[in-house]
Amino acid sequence: MPRFDYPCPDCRATNSLHDADCDFEGTPWPDVEKAYTDIVARLSAGPVAEADLYDAVDGEWGALHRSALERLKRDERVTENNDVLRLRTAAEFREQVAEPTREPMRTLYTRGSVPGCHDNAVFAMIAWYEMVGLSWSETRENVIEWLEDSGAWARGGFEEPSPAALVDSKRHVYEAGYGWKEKAEAAKRVIDRHRG
Ligand SMILES: [Zn+2]
Repeated sequence: MPRFDYPCPDCRATNSLHDADCDFEGTPWPDVEKAYTDIVARLSAGPVAEADLYDAVDGEWGALHRSALERLKRDERVTENNDVLRLRTAAEFREQVAEPTREPMRTLYTRGSVPGCHDNAVFAMIAWYEMVGLSWSETRENVIEWLEDSGAWARGGFEEPSPAALVDSKRHVYEAGYGWKEKAEAAKRVIDRHRG
């Protein structure tokens, strides 16, 4: 099955298997990719007011463009300041995404995993870094650091002898490009309960 560079703006699928309730099920991929590339091409030239971006795209600014822009904002690829949009540089993006700022990832990142959700939490961290475009070695480094710094490793409950061994045993999660959201939400529920 072909994989696409840009995720579906609604459900984040990168192949033709959309979520059941996705708005763009059946939308031709060239149309999806064109919406993204119209936006990214204009933003690559420099920051632009959101209203001016609508005029800069080829053809009509429609639902697909609107959703693609929302997706780029949610995925932290594009920043917004006083209605001016800017594309993050690759370096800036990598730095930014190393510290997830939105829920449920924020809780996982800041509180760390607790016994009872280790599998889901580690899965979610790896899948999330894969989604935001980190290489495997960057992902591995970030997740190991997170296991140590968040106190998750010290809480115990792991079968592997070290954080590195644990992360290496989950490489298939990165390779498969699984979604992070459900696992992250499940882990957050356990972490929230643990906090009492
Ligand atoms: Zn979709």
